[in-house]
Amino acid sequence: MKGLCSMRVIFLGLPGAGKGTQAAAITEDFKIPHIATGDMFRAASAANTALGEQVRKYLESGLLVPDDVTISVVKARLQQADAASGFLLDGFPRTKPQAQTLDEILSELGRPVTQVLYLEVRRDELLRRLTGRRVCSGCGASYHVVFNPPRLEGVCDRCGGPLTQRKDDQPEAVAVRLKENFERTQDLVKFYEGKGLLIRIDGEQPIGHVYDAIRQALRGASV
Ligand code: ADP
Ligand code: AMP
Repeated sequence: MKGLCSMRVIFLGLPGAGKGTQAAAITEDFKIPHIATGDMFRAASAANTALGEQVRKYLESGLLVPDDVTISVVKARLQQADAASGFLLDGFPRTKPQAQTLDEILSELGRPVTQVLYLEVRRDELLRRLTGRRVCSGCGASYHVVFNPPRLEGVCDRCGGPLTQRKDDQPEAVAVRLKENFERTQDLVKFYEGKGLLIRIDGEQPIGHVYDAIRQALRGASV
């Protein structure tokens, strides 16, 4: 499909909106890297790297990692060769300074963002999704005990790895995460709306319908 390989897309949405679920499918379809800051931080934390030590307390409590740390991780990732012909950012930016710095980085590289897809989901549905989420310890794939169960309970369909519950999907951290992200997400919606890049997607539809809406939005914007 013409133009799709140079997609530079942001998925915006509160925790639990379905960004990771949709990003896994879309990046596979379009052969672009899936750049998810949450996944990068969790991997660093699990591997006990210096970055992991630095971010662990934020991840576990649900607070945002400071902007300077987050931006430097993304900046380095965007400079890798595989991001040259497109990428999907999932969970970044989450603050206005992150969005403004991203703009600067990408305009220096001559590769501005092409679309920002905002997955809209109400709070009560987010709570249902986050508390029932299970993730694969092997490949990070996301499931839900009711809405998107694996074929075999507790086992990842994709890689056979064991499914676990994220520490920050416990009720206390979920409340912190929604509070941390609510107003900031609204600010980012306005920021990208002002640039004419925002596409709203009804994220409360079943997974397959959200996927179809995203495909249609990306197709519409790329031809
Ligand atoms: P995010 O990456 O935005 O935090 P996820 O993609 O991990 O969100 O989805 C959060 C939870 O909601 C997961 O358990 C996932 O299986 C489930 N989920 C995702 N999309 C939908 C949907 N459209 N309907 C119902 N459940 C969904
Ligand atoms: P996620 O997997 O997107 O739900 O992110 C998990 C956690 O990683 C968040 O609760 C934050 O602690 C941290 N994180 C991920 N992305 C960012 C970001 N863009 N800015 C700050 N912290 C982030």
